[in-house]
Amino acid sequence: MKLLIIADIEGVAGVCCREQAVSGNAEYQMARHLMTQEVNSVVEGAVKAGAGDITVIDSHGPMINLPMENLSPQAKLVQGKPRMLGMIDGIQYDDYDALMMIGAHSAAGEYGVLAHTINSRAFLKVEVNGHIMGEVDLYGSLAAEFGVPMLMVSGDDHLEAHVSEAFPDSDYVQVKKARGAYAAESLSVSTARELLSAAAGRSLLKKCQPKTSFGLEPPYRLTVSSISQAQSDLYALVPGVERIAPNQVSYEADSFKALVTLLNSLSAMSASLP
Ligand SMILES: [Zn+2]
Repeated sequence: MKLLIIADIEGVAGVCCREQAVSGNAEYQMARHLMTQEVNSVVEGAVKAGAGDITVIDSHGPMINLPMENLSPQAKLVQGKPRMLGMIDGIQYDDYDALMMIGAHSAAGEYGVLAHTINSRAFLKVEVNGHIMGEVDLYGSLAAEFGVPMLMVSGDDHLEAHVSEAFPDSDYVQVKKARGAYAAESLSVSTARELLSAAAGRSLLKKCQPKTSFGLEPPYRLTVSSISQAQSDLYALVPGVERIAPNQVSYEADSFKALVTLLNSLSAMSASLP
């Protein structure tokens, strides 16, 4: 059993504000420690349930958050960027059986702690065929294209409500309740870790099929709402991207791989604007 674990930080118990998600802050050091321990709990539960080959993909910000020396010795670690498939890079190199997303968060445009999609400075909202898409939707759907089911997700209560509709067969571990965009009531660290470990093992024993978010099928019409008009000016320079409103562009593709690659390109391009 080969397992991929995408690790993000915003959906970790005890994390609720921006300072905790940005390196260089004292609060970030604690947050990355909490993130590492949640990942280790999932690895531990997965190993107990028979996962023999586990790869953790560090997928927040600069993608170098998990201190190597503190990660479970039973997991390999992918770090650094840019990577061809962003948060799920690695899935294209091997035959994986399952995906889990730990520390995940709501999409831009939805309620939730530190809600955003890929880049909070680049995208106000991302939609595919009329559904708001967050990272769980984009990368869970991309995994399905590789025949890999998303077994489990963890994060806050708003993301749980979204996942229960978008991926009804996936398990969910709620480690906190949102009290605002930058406020949360978290479970104790030990309770969150116990729940994550148990759910990881349980979800590996269930039969969950690969599935796109909301069961969407191609063609996929991507609509990106930018924060500023200038960003849409920039995004519309990419061949195939159509300008549809002052703050909106659109793009059609037959795969989530194409959508994710485009979104990561637009995100990187947005940094060139003053
Ligand atoms: Zn993140």
